[in-house]
Amino acid sequence: MKNRAAYMTDLDKMEIRDIEMPKAGAKEVLVELEYVGICGSDVHYFHDGRCGDYKVEGDFMLGHECAGTVVALGEGVEHLKVGDKVALEPGITCGQCEFCRTGRYNLCPDVQFLATPPVQGCYENYIAFPENMCFKLPDNISTKEGALVEPLSVGMHAANQGDVKLGDSVVILGAGCIGLVTLLACKAHGATDITVVDVIPKRLDYALKLGATRVINGREADAVGEVDKLTDGAGVDKVFETAGSPITIQQTPYMVKNGGTIVLVGISAQEKIEYNFAKIMAKEARIESVFRYRNIYPQAIAAIADGIIDVSGIVTHEFDFDDIQEAFDCAINNKDEVVKAVIKIK
Ligand SMILES: [Zn+2]
Ligand SMILES: [Zn+2]
Repeated sequence: MKNRAAYMTDLDKMEIRDIEMPKAGAKEVLVELEYVGICGSDVHYFHDGRCGDYKVEGDFMLGHECAGTVVALGEGVEHLKVGDKVALEPGITCGQCEFCRTGRYNLCPDVQFLATPPVQGCYENYIAFPENMCFKLPDNISTKEGALVEPLSVGMHAANQGDVKLGDSVVILGAGCIGLVTLLACKAHGATDITVVDVIPKRLDYALKLGATRVINGREADAVGEVDKLTDGAGVDKVFETAGSPITIQQTPYMVKNGGTIVLVGISAQEKIEYNFAKIMAKEARIESVFRYRNIYPQAIAAIADGIIDVSGIVTHEFDFDDIQEAFDCAINNKDEVVKAVIKIK
């Protein structure tokens, strides 16, 4: 057994090296990773050296969307066995703070989240990880789909935060990976009328393929005016902003129905944005936000296993581990084409 890892050694530069084999500690399992996705945050770190407040210092291993097979058990492991396929939830929390103890562990100030500096990621062959953060995949889910449980969880948390119900009308701003998984989650929650807005035609095609009722190209049409027309000026029940652009964030109060809910999912590089709060108040609209996800892997896995959610259509690019440099170059240079790229580690 040999362990290799891909480190970013400089901006836009990846290097694969031999590293020490990890050992499963108490209540940990050793997982041989098979697929690790490339997240938007990985690309930001790789290309800009930072993402939000977090900065890369020194050689850094990216990657946090992963799945593989259990190959060894540490002491005291109770539920998993060698040979189990698992998806790893990448945030290890303290378990003791107010947020952990009230089940909102995604807000734990001491979370150790893979590939969020200084915590190293998982573009590597083997990782030792807490058993209780490794979720068993049923036979009919591949580890490639398993690696998509992480981004899907963001969409499912967004649908939860928006309390999407059977029959809801929804607008999703942005049709990148997170926009599309939000679409899948809203459909699974029973939304029946889903409008997806983006400026890239290819992404809009994906949205239609994945079940959007209709799409609007925000470059060719005025999205606010279109939603107005579609709803006779009433707006929709739930608006999801996943693009993280000041323009789309500003559109949300105009699209939501009286008493409806806006969910902010996309992270804008610009921190302060002019916003029409008078409209929010006149409509008694709610604004919710999303930080990662919580308590959702079991549901996400069950939804995929049952065929309620099909994530396989999200992957547009697949690369071998040895071609990880090419994979990242591709994600940077073909932003319009790449919805989700995955690295085949094994
Ligand atoms: Zn991610
Ligand atoms: Zn905590």
